[in-house]
Amino acid sequence: MAPTVEENPDWDPEDARFSVVRWIPSGIPNAQGPHVADPRSGEIIEADVRMYHNVIKLLEGWYFAQAGATDPRAKKLPLPNDVMSDLVRFVVAHEVGHSTGLHHNFIGNNSYSIEQLRDPKFVKEFGVSSSIMDYARFNYVMQPDDGVSPIDYDPGPYDKFAIEWGYKEFAGDKSPKEEAELLNKIADRQLTDKRLRWDAYSKGSALDPRILTEAIGEDPVEATRLGQKNKQRILANLIDATSFEPSKGYDELDSAYRTVVQQHARELGHVAKAVGGVMYRNELTQAHKDKQVFVPYAKEKQERAVDFLIENGVNLPAFWIDEKIFKRIGYNKFEQYGNYIIRQAIGAPLAAHRLDSLIKLQAAGHDVLDPVKTVNKFVDAIYGDIKSRGAQSDQYRIMLQDYFVNKLVKDLALANAKPKSSRSPKPSATFIAMTRGTATDLKMKLEAASNKHYGTLAGYRYAGLAAKLAEGLEPRK
Ligand SMILES: [Zn+2]
Repeated sequence: MAPTVEENPDWDPEDARFSVVRWIPSGIPNAQGPHVADPRSGEIIEADVRMYHNVIKLLEGWYFAQAGATDPRAKKLPLPNDVMSDLVRFVVAHEVGHSTGLHHNFIGNNSYSIEQLRDPKFVKEFGVSSSIMDYARFNYVMQPDDGVSPIDYDPGPYDKFAIEWGYKEFAGDKSPKEEAELLNKIADRQLTDKRLRWDAYSKGSALDPRILTEAIGEDPVEATRLGQKNKQRILANLIDATSFEPSKGYDELDSAYRTVVQQHARELGHVAKAVGGVMYRNELTQAHKDKQVFVPYAKEKQERAVDFLIENGVNLPAFWIDEKIFKRIGYNKFEQYGNYIIRQAIGAPLAAHRLDSLIKLQAAGHDVLDPVKTVNKFVDAIYGDIKSRGAQSDQYRIMLQDYFVNKLVKDLALANAKPKSSRSPKPSATFIAMTRGTATDLKMKLEAASNKHYGTLAGYRYAGLAAKLAEGLEPRK
């Protein structure tokens, strides 16, 4: 505890002689672990952990959406103090990692299998990611009867490895060259033990399906499938978990529902990263002579991801749309929240840079998903109903169809847009040509459907979408 004014009138948490964990009264939902390093040696001479007050709001939402079905203490909001204490401890441990010089590690979550994440003994010893410096959060994969603790994490194998590499003192008087050799020996372990890999914001991170935030497990499809089963349980309990207050109405239910939907959308986003995926191997000591840094992600895994996104994101399971919830929070809310899911289930796998990656891998002779067939699979799933007599006009179907047309129009506009940054380069001419082809085909289908359904709301809607595509294909000057 900090000294009182009587004990030490000069004490100040900003004083570089004191390393402190501080609670900062602020609405910011975050935490930080800054440090001061000696510029001559890099040695960290002072470090702090700053916990902004509203980090607890963030933690409560995550935990409820991830462990609300499996931790009996997390079935009712607000979460009790003992849960909140566990969560704060988890964040402080991560920030202490920064204080000791550790970077984030967003490949740690890829180290463990789904079976391991459901094994109580394994999770107790190794946590849900090989690094506490991951953004891995809590065990949303485990099922209620697994007997696993959703939060019980200490620093993982990667953290211990990185600290050893960074801090180990070697006996005797070693030259820098001798020391580098000994350090490389430690780093060599990365080649055979995948728990010791590191990656966060590298050259390859945008396309590497293993480098994820807020994810756990080496198989995002299975992780998301199990995660969704837990979310179904959480949603079934959502009205009892939250309360009604006359002045606020069902605000608590509204925000809990939004948090659960956002968590699911995030998990679909993990699955989406398989499309056009290229793994990036940055192991320090891998031999130059047979170095293969960029490795295309297996085609079967990409196919499986696309099928999963269509089965669960385009054909949204009915339990997500619960009349009992909407009659309390308002029917218009689904438009906002449902779009979180649509963006990750359709927008993310078909993002320009992912399809461009498929185009380039295919041109280089790799056996990958065919970009046109992949896009058409989504088109068929989204607009499959429009030819039939019984066109579907439920709200989610309308949102899907609107979203995809808007996406095509935006992608067409990329042809003339300035690239935003080197991380999102301008799409290739082939991508633009493919998008024009998709838009032209879809426009014809929509025009035919609008004729077929002439004089009905569905017919007008198809005509409106076709007109939007026409404008996207030939913009007025
Ligand atoms: Zn951090």
